[in-house]
Amino acid sequence: MPSATKLEQFVGFRERVEMLSGENVFACYQCGMCTAGCSFADEMDVLPHQVIRQLQLNNWKVLECNAKWICASCLNCQTRCPKGVDLSKLMEAMRQIYLRQQMDNLELNKYSIDQIRCLPQIALVASFRKKTG
Ligand code: SF4
Ligand code: SF4
Repeated sequence: MPSATKLEQFVGFRERVEMLSGENVFACYQCGMCTAGCSFADEMDVLPHQVIRQLQLNNWKVLECNAKWICASCLNCQTRCPKGVDLSKLMEAMRQIYLRQQMDNLELNKYSIDQIRCLPQIALVASFRKKTG
């Protein structure tokens, strides 16, 4: 999980989500139709319409919710939404931001130059940030 310290420095969270998703979070007027039609809402700690509300409020802490992982991109919400908001794109943007905020998996300064030279370079680079979970 990203550290609060790192995320607190995150500016323009909502704008970044909108840029990555191509969606306008302020199109949502919180009718709740998306949540009512979401087959996976019961498993989400933050419901789909609540996710959008937190995005409207520019609350980066919503990145920590499990909803972004539970969302199956089934598009039920988009078909029900009177404003045509595509939550699956917002969830995907949140996943991308979350993963890009992930800590380095390796701290290079803990390895000697000799060790770094011996390690397989491609695996080394891949281990910095691409490993997840
Ligand atoms: S259905 Fe659309 S307008 Fe209604 S809460 Fe969901 S995203 Fe917002
Ligand atoms: S796209 Fe995601 S949020 Fe929308 S209905 Fe499907 S699972 Fe739920």
